[in-house]
Amino acid sequence: MKIKHYTIPVFIPMQACPFRCIFCDQEKISGHTKIPGPQDVAQTIRDYLTTIPKENTVVEVGFFGGTFTGLAAELQQTYLTTVQPFIETKQIQGVRLSTRPDFIDRPKLALLKKYNVTTIELGAQSMDEDVLKRSGRGHTANDTIIAATMIRENGFRLGLQMMVGLPGDNAEKSVATATKFVEMKALDVRIYPALVIKGTPLERLYNSGKFSPLGLAASVDTVAKVYRIFENANINIIRTGLHPSDGLISGEELVAGPFHVSFKELVLTKLWQEELDKLFRGGAKEWIKIFVAPGQVNYAVGHQSKNKNALLAKYNRVQFKTDHSLTGRQYYVDIS
Ligand code: SF4
Repeated sequence: MKIKHYTIPVFIPMQACPFRCIFCDQEKISGHTKIPGPQDVAQTIRDYLTTIPKENTVVEVGFFGGTFTGLAAELQQTYLTTVQPFIETKQIQGVRLSTRPDFIDRPKLALLKKYNVTTIELGAQSMDEDVLKRSGRGHTANDTIIAATMIRENGFRLGLQMMVGLPGDNAEKSVATATKFVEMKALDVRIYPALVIKGTPLERLYNSGKFSPLGLAASVDTVAKVYRIFENANINIIRTGLHPSDGLISGEELVAGPFHVSFKELVLTKLWQEELDKLFRGGAKEWIKIFVAPGQVNYAVGHQSKNKNALLAKYNRVQFKTDHSLTGRQYYVDIS
């Protein structure tokens, strides 16, 4: 029986961040504006638990959207204490949180350990010094390496988040960042394309012509490269693309950049397109049946049937079928 993982998200938008990173407005990105009190956290957990199956599940609470370990120790304890009764009754199996690499040290980790924190996600964004500097991150790549090592050595799961297309970034630098994430032995990663959000310093850079975000196709291409690196290293890719908040979907909060509600689907469409490339060799054929793993059909067919339509230029009939013995992007074909 497959175990399903759930994370109950609790947003503490930009709390304890020492300053604002050039691209960031967590309230607009996450759609959450209120700082939750302990009662709100407990209620959020109770509400989510009613929607999550009790069997064959692992449920975590995740504190996201700010610098959790930058909060006063008492406030961290207050939040974490709220979760403990749910852990004691085995409704929740652990806690994950996101923070900055320069806000990790041994005393902070000791506190988190006491309260059943299992996973620490570092907003690393890039491992390129110039990109970090130009994005106003206020920490170095080496800070990330030191924090990641400390997290692992103290028995936590390590998560790393990267952003593609920040000022000074390019495809090679994004690939190098992903490669360093693998070397740092991340277990979970999140990949986000850099967007220009209203009211951020990045908007001012964009308006002054000093920053151009990646186009959608270029962003998808680079994220596909990075995605493949993580897949090959068996790293769990938790998220690809920003969560589509109302402000992003309506465009109200978005100034420019490669936002798409189906960003992950576009990336997987691209990866499948590369896999299916060899089917374009040789002359025209009558029909082709492509067998893929269940769960991969939509990506193989492609967003808005992109891959299928491309194949229809060579084959009169194209059918996608599932085969339960296949996994990942394995496939075989029947051609006549
Ligand atoms: S540290 Fe994270 S949450 Fe805080 S401003 Fe920077 S990117 Fe946003």
